Amino acid sequence: MSTSKSGTLGSHLWDSSDLYRNSVLQLQEAADVMRLDPNVAERLKVPKRALIVSVPIRLDNGNIKVFEGYRVQHNMTLGPGKGGIRFHPEVNLSEVAGLAMLMTFKCSLVGLPLGGAKGGIRVDPTQLSRQEAQSLTRRYTTEINMIIGPDKDIPAPDVGTDAQHMAWMMDTFSQERGFAIPGVVTGKPVEVGGSLGRAESTGRGVVYTIQHAAKHLAATGQQGPKIDSSTTVAVHGFGKVGAVAALEIFNLGTKVIAVSDISGGLYNKNGLNIPEVIKYFTKNRTLVGYPEAELISNEELLAVNCDVLIPAAIDGVITKDNVSRVKAKIIAEGANGPITNEALKELEERGVFIIPDVLCNAGGVIVSYFEWVQGIQNLFWSETEVNARLAEVMATAFKKVMDVQSRHRCGMKTAALISGVERLAKAMLLRGLFP
Ligand code: GLU
Repeated sequence: MSTSKSGTLGSHLWDSSDLYRNSVLQLQEAADVMRLDPNVAERLKVPKRALIVSVPIRLDNGNIKVFEGYRVQHNMTLGPGKGGIRFHPEVNLSEVAGLAMLMTFKCSLVGLPLGGAKGGIRVDPTQLSRQEAQSLTRRYTTEINMIIGPDKDIPAPDVGTDAQHMAWMMDTFSQERGFAIPGVVTGKPVEVGGSLGRAESTGRGVVYTIQHAAKHLAATGQQGPKIDSSTTVAVHGFGKVGAVAALEIFNLGTKVIAVSDISGGLYNKNGLNIPEVIKYFTKNRTLVGYPEAELISNEELLAVNCDVLIPAAIDGVITKDNVSRVKAKIIAEGANGPITNEALKELEERGVFIIPDVLCNAGGVIVSYFEWVQGIQNLFWSETEVNARLAEVMATAFKKVMDVQSRHRCGMKTAALISGVERLAKAMLLRGLFP
């Protein structure tokens, strides 16, 4: 077992992925700065429970293929587990455990009565037909059925899944019990009990935090971009988070000079017309071929000369190898864990303002919580109300992180984790250790 300065680094069962190891190291740093009770830190470094399942499905060609699936519940002190389901060819138990840990801190930081969980299937979703994707989602739901539920653990979309997958999960869970149970998942289509504004919530929240960051820099007399027509933005990832964030920040009048998806990136120094890019992307399922832009690679996008960079694709994209080329003054972590720990240190030393994932992309789980609450009440809110409440929760969380940051004079990542851990640690100590 590897050890860090003040404790064990998780356990051999969990720590095979960079994402998990990074999360534990960040937790340890936060624990050191805030002088966290070591007994609490010890418990937070490992998940409470994990389920590994085999998910056999019949492919369209008649053959059967077995996929590996996971659901990890990291901590459920504050309430039911909460977190997305990831379909990705490289997902594994350790990565899901690391992501579940981030969900614990995210939910606690933004004040939700929810714990942290995450799920995943090791699969390339682009290689599945619609029927195969449906079979996989339904069989996975059945296999994890005993640990999920509206009062236990509530999945949602993540990388590679969307509202349609949630509708299949909700249907499978409901069929098995004989009546509709919409509260078992969030991020559902509005027609089956979803919330208005949920689909856009993560990207929208990312842009709220960027606005807060710009205001904070101006108010504290630090150098930083304003959010207006003089501001340049680059967005890495053009999925559920990146495309919405690009559109929202474009609508604030900034110049979005570069965007990218898995196939490559677009660059236009005068700014891209994001509504047109979205139309093109929706029609062609790729950015490549869009007129009025130069083609760039994903690596080039990260190095573009811009004020704000939004890595909104996947973890581990800004690393010690490319960090020296990153020029942005604000980096908003739309994805979970896009900056490795070494790269983060260098960026912080250079004075780059980092908006950490657990704060930056919390809009998704916040509106997931609103969806769950609306479902329990059977009373649905207007999109204006959803957005206003989202803005309020994000503003409070941002302020909380800045207060912790100035109290401890630490980096933003550490401040965000402390903000999440403080509330949780109090609750853990009050509940005590059973038996
Ligand atoms: N997958 C999203 C996240 O990482 C949303 C989770 C949820 O809504 O439960 O925060």
